[in-house]
Amino acid sequence: MTHLVVKDLTAGYGDARVLHGVGLTVGEGEICAILGPNGAGKTTLLRALSGMIRARGTVTLGGADLTGHPPDTLARQGVAHVPEGRGTFMPLTVEENLRLGAYVRRRGPELEADLDRIHGYFPVLKTRLKQAAGSLSGGEQQMLAIGRALMSRPRLLLLDEPSLGLAPLVTRELFRIVQAINAEERTTVVVVEQNAHLALGIAQQAHVLETGRIVLSGTAEEIRADEQVAQSYLGYR
Ligand code: ATP
Repeated sequence: MTHLVVKDLTAGYGDARVLHGVGLTVGEGEICAILGPNGAGKTTLLRALSGMIRARGTVTLGGADLTGHPPDTLARQGVAHVPEGRGTFMPLTVEENLRLGAYVRRRGPELEADLDRIHGYFPVLKTRLKQAAGSLSGGEQQMLAIGRALMSRPRLLLLDEPSLGLAPLVTRELFRIVQAINAEERTTVVVVEQNAHLALGIAQQAHVLETGRIVLSGTAEEIRADEQVAQSYLGYR
């Protein structure tokens, strides 16, 4: 079933238009990778989907129209955005950061159950609960950022460059966990990633964005097999 539908999305900053009529669909519980060169508008697309910037066009999630709503409304509708650079609150502890992630929900026993659930995905966070987020390694901070997003029980998880600045081994582990979250919770995921190999390894479908337009769409297999993509983004052929 189609979950996320984006039609003719246009967005930018001030007078500078960055996205020019982007359209895509993502099936429920699928992982969709957004690839493309620097400056193509990948981050801008995620910002438009989470309401961080204003956009024109149509965005629906599970049939509900999300177009033009502010970020807090979209968070309540189940959209969670893990921005590039992670956006954790450095002076706060790991536990405080995780609890903040549940701000869109009521408090209650299920909050504690969710903390346990997140410790299950990221056991290292459980051993660091009272530590300031700023003292974590890059990989742990990315895990915390994703863990915090999961505390809102999202239906749509937007991940911006999760591998940024991380060692290959840490990145692989992180992607394995994202795949596990997607498999266990059926959370729809849109991941923007420079590392096309990794992203295509977990995604069912992918889109290539160039200067604010989608220039190629297909299954992860099709995109991987595409000669030009292989040359431009995968570094071979
Ligand atoms: P990268 O991988 O380098 O982050 P990207 O594909 O995510 O690239 P965006 O960050 O969306 O690209 O940037 C697209 C365009 O929008 C670029 O020309 C960039 O300079 C511009 N841009 C991004 N953020 C802002 C901003 N806050 N204000 C003005 N222009 C911006």
